[in-house]
Amino acid sequence: MNLYQLTIYQLQKMLRSGEVTSVEVTKAIYKRINEIEKDIHAYISLTNEMALEQAEEADKRIKKRGDTLPLLGIPLAIKDVICIKGVKTTCGSKILSNFIPPYDATVIKRLRANGAIFLGKTNMDEFAMGSSTETSYFGITQNPWGLEHVPGGSSGGSAAALAADECIGALGSDTGGSIRQPASYCGVVGMKPTYGRVSRFGLVAFASSLDQIGPMTKDVTDTAILMNVISGKDPLDSTSLDVNLPDFTTALRNDVKGLRIGIPMEYFVEGVDHEVECSVREGIRLLERLGASSHEVSLPHTDYAISTYYILASAEASSNLARYDGVKYGYRTDDSKDIMYMYKMTREEGFGAEVKRRIMLGTYVLSSGYYDAYYLKAQKVRTLIKKDFDKVFKECDVLIVPNAPTPPFKIGEKIDNPLQMYLSDIFTIPANLGGIPAISIPCGFSKDGLPVGMQIMGRHLDEETIIRTAYTFEQNTDYHLQKPKNLSCKDLGEI
Ligand code: GLN
Repeated sequence: MNLYQLTIYQLQKMLRSGEVTSVEVTKAIYKRINEIEKDIHAYISLTNEMALEQAEEADKRIKKRGDTLPLLGIPLAIKDVICIKGVKTTCGSKILSNFIPPYDATVIKRLRANGAIFLGKTNMDEFAMGSSTETSYFGITQNPWGLEHVPGGSSGGSAAALAADECIGALGSDTGGSIRQPASYCGVVGMKPTYGRVSRFGLVAFASSLDQIGPMTKDVTDTAILMNVISGKDPLDSTSLDVNLPDFTTALRNDVKGLRIGIPMEYFVEGVDHEVECSVREGIRLLERLGASSHEVSLPHTDYAISTYYILASAEASSNLARYDGVKYGYRTDDSKDIMYMYKMTREEGFGAEVKRRIMLGTYVLSSGYYDAYYLKAQKVRTLIKKDFDKVFKECDVLIVPNAPTPPFKIGEKIDNPLQMYLSDIFTIPANLGGIPAISIPCGFSKDGLPVGMQIMGRHLDEETIIRTAYTFEQNTDYHLQKPKNLSCKDLGEI
């Protein structure tokens, strides 16, 4: 075992007992990054100097005062859509390639207050629009399990960094699957919390009624630890919920006796890869052997989820991205003969093709004459999708489904076919539309050795049951312990 392979929980114990220092671990991770980043490209920028200063500070606190903050001295990777004061936050876009936020996102403030260290900012699809991390202005990220495959997206950098042991834990953001889908493609754990559980202040907005920040980790225990730190009401985000905060680590129980699992028939249909379906069904059978029961349920409006999402998310994006005009933030064209022309050329040069596609689609569905037919109708269908969930959660405690219809696809395979790309989110989007929490955990491998993920969805604000189910599954399997074999793995910082 190398230092960079540790989980948050393992490292927490070793730091407290004095077995290792935060500086040693942080250095070991940067060495690891140096060695394999040329193959993976998980990061857009690294913050070595800041991280080592934070690590030194953490070591002093541990030594002097025996501090036991949950993340004291733990190095994390942050998706480049979340603002860290004084650190470039690009959102994977040319238009923000020089943007340095003058403030911390609320989640960053909370991580800081709990002692975390920031290693750098991870790669992502431009403005979180994509499912493969191929639309980043800063180049593609490769899947550590198969370098010719995508890591998923849009939080592909965070997922790849975890799988390649280039960080101990990470944050991602999920608007339509961007935490869960890359987590499943890279064989790690990723959770989208209930909408409103985590503050969005300082998260660069894509589609504000859907966006949520969430943990991406090497196991379920670490997800619970990060959830404890990042959750909670924030006066700076009026959509954050003022509700009781459980201690999510108390849900880490190896026990699913009496748990009722719903299996929505609309998620096991033609087009779902056979190996994916088998792994997920095998996972459900394991939980049954451990005391859960399962029955088939129906979410009849699932078929409309993709079209509903692409209308609503694009409409919100077209409005949110109106602020990038070359005046207030980031990139400005050199070609500015008058102000209108300057706006136009800045956006023309600053945004990539996928972002432009979304802005045009969003502007179209909001325009007069089309608003009622598209945007308003989509809002109504969103309510129907939410009602489907309300109904099934009366008769079951969790829903278990595949995360994505196929194992990771090849780089370049879908980039020229937006519809195919959008279809890879078919199973993750409904949870965003319904505002409910969902997790992806590793549940198998394809015959080519690529990871397969199982998605567990739960009731509004019931992350605990999801965590308990996921933890029980993890305790009785070893998928989460496997590591990509093709990566060079010299002995660095050996324990
Ligand atoms: N892949 C989806 C999209 O392109 C979801 C992205 C996300 O969750 N940020 O919109």
